[in-house]
Amino acid sequence: MSATPEWWEKEPLRFECQADCFKCCLKPGVIYFDGEDIRRIAGHLGVSQKEFKAAYLTRDDGHYVLEVSDRDPCPFLTPGGCGVHDVKPKQCQTYPFWRENLDYRSTWKLVGAFCPGVDKGPMVPLKTIKHLLDIFRL
Ligand code: SF4
Ligand code: SF4
Repeated sequence: MSATPEWWEKEPLRFECQADCFKCCLKPGVIYFDGEDIRRIAGHLGVSQKEFKAAYLTRDDGHYVLEVSDRDPCPFLTPGGCGVHDVKPKQCQTYPFWRENLDYRSTWKLVGAFCPGVDKGPMVPLKTIKHLLDIFRL
């Protein structure tokens, strides 16, 4: 028996990240890094994984995280955007298609009240949404 489709499987969602908008990068919170994120970004920066962890990450309940606050914004944010764009952590790659954001229409609407890219641009294929949900899991 097939599972009941999620609401977003029945309604097309549109999203397009907006030029010169860094709102999600400036939002205080934590960014989770899994082992693959650490390996990829440390390699890109030309430092060892140990050096990368020591320089940027702390431990939170068994996870490696980067803490971002109003006082300490993401260290990878540059005036031109993400300085590690091609290798950025999965949490950033997949925003705003996180499970918690897609739980209900209402949660997606709340994301849209914050992120100006929601409801803009082309329809995002279901295959892409499912892929994004699969690659970032806590
Ligand atoms: S808040 Fe939305 S539009 Fe702005 S940078 Fe983040 S994903 Fe892009
Ligand atoms: S890693 Fe890049 S995309 Fe993620 S919060 Fe920092 S600047 Fe933004």
